[in-house]
Amino acid sequence: MAKLAIGFAVALIALGVGGYFAAAAEARSLTALIPAIAGGLLLICGLLAMNPAIRMHAMHGAAMVGLLGFLAPLGRLIPQAIKGTPPSPQQIPAGCPYHPRCPYAIDVCTTVDPPLVRVDRRRLACHVDPFSDGE
Ligand code: SF4
Repeated sequence: MAKLAIGFAVALIALGVGGYFAAAAEARSLTALIPAIAGGLLLICGLLAMNPAIRMHAMHGAAMVGLLGFLAPLGRLIPQAIKGTPPSPQQIPAGCPYHPRCPYAIDVCTTVDPPLVRVDRRRLACHVDPFSDGE
């Protein structure tokens, strides 16, 4: 596993440094070096893991670097998966505040804020009945 971590580290460093220098000089951004920084941390963990006495801790560190590398881009992807942008708290739209982003919005949603009603043991504020089968 230590050799695998070192291999990924070298690939990440090459990706980051290569990406940085492949860009035109006026377009170079330090953010292009983020993979190289992650690769540097992974390389340190991989090298430390060559020592059997601290291998477990070093590999936990490597796993942490990998997890952060996975979660960081995921945090940017999730908001993009939802269409539109949330309204400004200073400019809540008329009607249901969700209507600019809601795929079920109907005309009344743009003008009338739905009242909160009790349905069975739940409370619901929506002009569209979510329990309807569409008939
Ligand atoms: S009232 Fe219901 S259907 Fe209409 S926009 Fe709001 S959440 Fe969507």
